[in-house]
Amino acid sequence: MKIKKVEVFAARLLLKEPFVISYVHLDDMPTIFVRVETDEGTVGWGEAVPDQNVTGETWESTYHVIKHELAPLIINEDPFAIDYIHQKFSHKINGVPSAKAALDIAIYDLMGKITGQPVYQLIGGKAHKELQVPRVISIKDPQEMAEDARSFVEAGFRNIKMKVGTNADIDIERIKAVRNAIGNTIQLRVDANQGWNRIEALKVIRETSECHVDWYEQPVKAHDIRALKEIRSVANHKVMIDEGVHNIYDLVNVIEMRAADMLNIKLMKSGGIYPALALASLAEAADMPCQVGSMVESAIGTMAGAHLAMSKNIIQTNEMVGPLMFIKDVAKVHYNRDVIQFSNNPGLGIDVDEAYVNEITRFSCEINKPV
Ligand code: MG
Repeated sequence: MKIKKVEVFAARLLLKEPFVISYVHLDDMPTIFVRVETDEGTVGWGEAVPDQNVTGETWESTYHVIKHELAPLIINEDPFAIDYIHQKFSHKINGVPSAKAALDIAIYDLMGKITGQPVYQLIGGKAHKELQVPRVISIKDPQEMAEDARSFVEAGFRNIKMKVGTNADIDIERIKAVRNAIGNTIQLRVDANQGWNRIEALKVIRETSECHVDWYEQPVKAHDIRALKEIRSVANHKVMIDEGVHNIYDLVNVIEMRAADMLNIKLMKSGGIYPALALASLAEAADMPCQVGSMVESAIGTMAGAHLAMSKNIIQTNEMVGPLMFIKDVAKVHYNRDVIQFSNNPGLGIDVDEAYVNEITRFSCEINKPV
């Protein structure tokens, strides 16, 4: 069995409300879908949601990298030769993890469909009874964020993740207001998305120490592993690294420096499920609990992350919440309150609405020739 065709769709998904974090404000989500087909007619779907502030990939660049550099490399290849395919990818082009992730996810969807198994069964099986998701709150005024948090808790969510990182003093107010609004039994995570410097981070952590924050995520710039290490050694709270770790080489360095307590793995940083599995194993060897995060992905990227999170004990939390933020999605992801539902269908276990993919696509192409 061989891969014979890749179609690439550059599309935009409509958000219910703008997504606002420390470095970006988005009114809709630019995304790239790939549809990979074998010579026997099996179809796998993948997705790239590039974040130019994190991986240096734009919507347009990702489309072109998939079209010209990566997709031709998998034509005529066996979809089960995933290690070899990733070797070909790295040999051809350094970085571009979102572009690589799109094809990696589609290939896992294919492997699942060919074997009749959900993806998590191929990569470790069911390591958890269920996957609980948090609600993510965009940056707003403290009282508005408190209101958002309260309404999500009333809707049944047991974990709140709040975005901060615009101004340390207001962030302190934001964290206090949200904790006040949700009471002490709800888990609260804080993500600064690199928005503070070392001094500001230490100030926020110190002044919110009564707020029982589960962890503070990426308080300082991605490259500043030394500052993260200093924060970790002084603060009595857990720090999670996100933007600072994309691949295993980054993680080895963080582990050697003992710079973080936890790791946020994202398929769009790692280059897909296959390299993410290596990150999880490395983290496991360092007793570093992981989370699978997301870039506000559609049902496709979201379920890929969910299958990964389901398959590994060391992956203890996830943020597979993209589909909750869209007006309409390309497939249905079911949530039972805050628990993500897995179908027993093979592959990613979702039905992609191809007509809707076409409707929201701005430009597309087909690749059917090897390099
Ligand atoms: Mg983060």
